[in-house]
Amino acid sequence: MRDWARELGFSQIGVAGVDLSTAEPGLLAWLANGFHGSMDYMQAHGLRRARPAELVPGTTSVITARMDYLAATPEGWQAIEFDRLERPTEGIVSLYARGRDYHKVLRNRLQKLADRIADAIGPFGHRVFTDSAPVLEVELAARSGQGWRGRHTLVLNREGGSMFFLGEIYVDVALPPTEPVGDHCGSCHACLDVCPTGAIVAPYRLDARRCISYLTIEHAGSIPVELRPLMGNRIYGCDDCQLVCPWNKFAQPALVPDFAPRAGLVGQSLVALFAWNEEEFLRFTEGSPIRRIGHARWLRNIAVAMGNALRKGEDAEMRAALQARAGHPDGVVREHVEWALGQGDSQAPGSRRS
Ligand code: SF4
Ligand code: SF4
Repeated sequence: MRDWARELGFSQIGVAGVDLSTAEPGLLAWLANGFHGSMDYMQAHGLRRARPAELVPGTTSVITARMDYLAATPEGWQAIEFDRLERPTEGIVSLYARGRDYHKVLRNRLQKLADRIADAIGPFGHRVFTDSAPVLEVELAARSGQGWRGRHTLVLNREGGSMFFLGEIYVDVALPPTEPVGDHCGSCHACLDVCPTGAIVAPYRLDARRCISYLTIEHAGSIPVELRPLMGNRIYGCDDCQLVCPWNKFAQPALVPDFAPRAGLVGQSLVALFAWNEEEFLRFTEGSPIRRIGHARWLRNIAVAMGNALRKGEDAEMRAALQARAGHPDGVVREHVEWALGQGDSQAPGSRRS
């Protein structure tokens, strides 16, 4: 199975049992704190997330898999990414989202793995998942030895850092579980210190409501005003807590070509990205995870980044681009555009570049 998984682009597979009862109190506490924000489906599914055999009756084991996604890991790639955050007029898309939609890639390849197993042992009940259903992915990955849960709450692997996607196959075949690994965060707190919004409220506890990944992707409405200045030029996701993590010096390049960055998404100006009309947004993001958020949320995110850029220096072109969207039919977009136009010093005489 390991060889087949490798051929399909997975870096590692493991097996977890289905008794996750010791993870239930933590899940309930996270939900009770409201840390899931507006992700109501988390609340709605409740403990089914921690009970694989309730989600898919008959499940006795879970095959876990991880797939590296970095297109390349040149020396100092983390510093290259941190540098982008210092260029306020550029829009930053999270590393994992620069290529093809991982949901499709992983689902297809997990299904192929299941098909190969079926060819060998005969038909068996199974269902594949990747970030798509009430599945306690990190818990299953950690239990099956894919790595340990880092203080930023993501899975960390000694040979691969954290720049990988997770996927699972729920199966009705009893397989021997693979061993978990120990925690190697040691005394490090770098991820807590670097988080721009203070979303990692304590080691191993993430308040999604403050996380830029949640705010730019999952959250549909208005972004809290007090968090907007902290978002900088991150327009889709955020990588800071992973970029700073010392274990990511071991991050591995992807074994599949699908996650290679698309032209026009890296090093692109906010003004250019903001100029896409809906038809262009759909065309440029076809097959990309970005498409899922829709054009209005895309504009909302870029408007926040533009407001933050204007706080750092006037820019007539950017201001004109915002003004051109001031009458957008979506009220959330309009409100964020208005906020962005209120940033910077254009109201003051002698503004720098307008
Ligand atoms: S993704 Fe960004 S905002 Fe979210 S916890 Fe990590 S550093 Fe903080
Ligand atoms: S930055 Fe440090 S504390 Fe955070 S996950 Fe990485 S090793 Fe652990």
